[in-house]
Amino acid sequence: MINEQRLIQTFLDLVQIDSPSGDEGAIAQEVAARLRALGAETNVDSLFNVSAKISGHGVKKNTKPLFLNAHTDNVSPARGIKPVVAGGRISSDGTTVLGADDLAGVAAILEGVTSLIEDDKKHPPLEIAITSQEELGLVGAKAMDIGKFRAKEGVVFDSGGPVGTIVLSAPTHNLLEAVIKGKAAHSAHPLGGINALNIAARALTLARVGELDRESTANFGIIRGGAARNIVPDTVELVGEVRSRSDKKLQRHTRAIRAAFEKAVQGTGAKLDFRVTRAYNRYQFRKSDPLVRRVAGALKKIGRPAVYRAAMGGSDANIWNAKGIKTVVVSVGYEAIHTTDEFIPITELVKAAELVEILAAA
Ligand SMILES: [Zn+2]
Repeated sequence: MINEQRLIQTFLDLVQIDSPSGDEGAIAQEVAARLRALGAETNVDSLFNVSAKISGHGVKKNTKPLFLNAHTDNVSPARGIKPVVAGGRISSDGTTVLGADDLAGVAAILEGVTSLIEDDKKHPPLEIAITSQEELGLVGAKAMDIGKFRAKEGVVFDSGGPVGTIVLSAPTHNLLEAVIKGKAAHSAHPLGGINALNIAARALTLARVGELDRESTANFGIIRGGAARNIVPDTVELVGEVRSRSDKKLQRHTRAIRAAFEKAVQGTGAKLDFRVTRAYNRYQFRKSDPLVRRVAGALKKIGRPAVYRAAMGGSDANIWNAKGIKTVVVSVGYEAIHTTDEFIPITELVKAAELVEILAAA
C-alpha cells in the first residue's frame, strides 16, 4: 500500500537536495541509491541521467517491460529549497521554486515501486529513466543511451494539474536564429551605414507571430545588437521559435517567417543568416491506442477518470517516442510551476504514486 508519510518524506528529502539544471550529480546518486535499495540494477551517466532495471516478479519470462520516466532538474531559483507542509499542500518558503516539477514524478515512481515490491505484487520488468537537464531542452533524454532497455511502451510522470490527465499529443518545435548584418557608421554621418536594427524591426512587423492557428504558435523572445547610441547598429540577432502539432503547418509557418526576414533585408544591402534547428519532434496518440487505454484503465482504478489534453510544449516523451519507446505524459498534481508559488496538494502526490503502482502491477 502507498505509505503517505513515507511518500511525503521522500519528496521532502529530494527537493532539499539542490538540483538546478546542469547540477544533478547529488540527486542522481541519491535516486540511484534508493532504486538499488529496491533491487534495481542502476547506472548514472556523465550527464547524471539515472537508468534502472527491476526484474519482473511472478510473471512469464518474456513479459514486456514497462518504461517509467521523470526528471530531476529544477528551474531557478532552485538552490536551498525549504519545503513547507501546511493546509494539505506542500509549497516552498516563497524564495525558490518547490521542485515538484518534476521531483513529484520521481517521488511517485519511488513510492509506487516500493509499495509494489513490499506488497509482493506481480509486476512486469520495470525500466526506469530519471533524466537530467529536461528544462534546458530535453538535453538529458536526448543524450541518454537507452540501448539496454527493452521496453516498447511507458509513461512520463511530468505534467501539471490534478492526477487524471493524459497528454495525447505534443508539437514539433523549431528553433529560429536570425542574424542581420548591416554596416556601422557614425550616427551623425549615417550615409553609407546600414541599420540592422531598423531591418530587424521591419522583419518583426512582417512576420506573423503569436497563435498562428489552433495547433501552431510562433515567438521571438530575444533581440540582441547595437554598440552605442551614436553608432548605426551593424549586427542584430533575433532568437525565436515555431511550434506546431502539424508538421505541414510547422513547415509553412517557418517558411513564412523566413520569407518575412528575407523581404525585410531585400534591397538594403544587409546580409541575412537565418537558421532553423529542430528541437524535438511531435507525437500524437488516439484515445483508442492500447497504451492510452492502459493508462486510462489505471486512472479509472484510482478513481480519476481520464481527461485528455493536447500539449503545446515538449517533454521527455517527445524524445522517447522518437527513440522508439511509445510514451504518453500524465499529470502528477503540481501547480504554478516555474514560479516561487509552485505547490502540490498532498492528495495529488498520493494519487500519482497510486497511479505508478497500478500501472506497474501486472
Ligand atoms: Zn517538468
